[in-house]
Amino acid sequence: MIDINLLKSETEKFGVSLDDKTLANFDRFAEMLVDWNSRINLTAITEPTQIVYKHFADSLTALAAVDVPQGASFIDVGTGGGFPGLPLIIARPDLHAVLLDSTKKKLMFVDYVIDKLEMSGRGRTLHMRAEEAGVKIQLRNRFDFSFSRAVANLRELSEYCLPLTKIGGTFVALKGAKAMEEIAEAKEAIKILGGEIQEVKKFILGDMGERYLVVIKKVSPTPPKYPRASAKISKEPLGLSKK
Ligand code: SAM
Repeated sequence: MIDINLLKSETEKFGVSLDDKTLANFDRFAEMLVDWNSRINLTAITEPTQIVYKHFADSLTALAAVDVPQGASFIDVGTGGGFPGLPLIIARPDLHAVLLDSTKKKLMFVDYVIDKLEMSGRGRTLHMRAEEAGVKIQLRNRFDFSFSRAVANLRELSEYCLPLTKIGGTFVALKGAKAMEEIAEAKEAIKILGGEIQEVKKFILGDMGERYLVVIKKVSPTPPKYPRASAKISKEPLGLSKK
């Protein structure tokens, strides 16, 4: 269904190499995505070349932005139809992932893909809001990495993701052209939440334009009062309101 040679060559450009079996799994994933998307709304992107660039290659830039050690754990916050989490565990069978979303229907699709591609030992879905997960003892400070794409602005996203990330771990936000503005707005919040911006990596993917991966190290504990309830997170932007 997709041009697997295109996926292979595009990801090789940023140093991620995919073998034939992995490429075949991406092809099956694309078929399942398009099939399910005719029944439930998972994505607006269904054209095969766009799937290669906007879903698969874009998700895999995370592996080029940070060095993800063998056997590392991560949480994908707001995974939706599985991005970036599913491409990451397809490409890296050694990783352990929790794919979190507040929409059950989308997670049914993610579960289906995990089952069909025989990845149940290393990926599981979690139907929960990120700000609820962040206060649960078994999830807080638990993950080597948190990844997230297209969920919220960086300031809000930091309050979702940093509590879940281990101290010494890394939160990576996959962002588009407005990344720099978002960073400026989020700087103070990131500091309050125990993070430190390490670097911003820029990728150009086909005609997608510029993509930015904001790499944030968790250097100190997130104060216990964060994350707040979702209404507060959006109505009282952290770093601007009283602390
Ligand atoms: N990350 C996927 C991608 O890039 O294709 C999905 C992006 S979709 C635009 C945003 C997703 O984030 C939705 O599936 C939504 O349910 C989820 N979401 C938004 N806020 C959330 C929260 N506070 N906790 C959990 N999931 C959330």
